[in-house]
Amino acid sequence: MRSRYSAFCTGNLDYLIATHHPSQRSPDERLQLAQTIKSTEWLGLRIVSTHQGLPSDQIGIVEFVAVYRAGQMGQIHERSRFGRHRGGWIYLEGDQLPPLWPKRNQPCWCGSGQKFKQCHGRAK
Ligand SMILES: [Zn+2]
Repeated sequence: MRSRYSAFCTGNLDYLIATHHPSQRSPDERLQLAQTIKSTEWLGLRIVSTHQGLPSDQIGIVEFVAVYRAGQMGQIHERSRFGRHRGGWIYLEGDQLPPLWPKRNQPCWCGSGQKFKQCHGRAK
């Protein structure tokens, strides 16, 4: 999970495709990923919860929030399922969840060090 996020940040297309289950890949996945990576600045990753995913398990579930800026600030809040593949983990699919933002007095997720209400949580 974290390694896929890092790959998004660094634009490692080969890794992203290699760790996506072959049956879930779309024909133009490389192009879609390239466009996403080019237009998106990733600001941070929050792991909300994990289930299973231990060495003895065959599946792992990770709920996460990835915050990005693509024009304006947005986020992916997803519960992802990972499966075993050649000794490693491979992304199977995910459920999109409603956005989850920090509380007003918590640090902003963009990493500015400011409170959310004084940074990206400011009323427009
Ligand atoms: Zn911010």
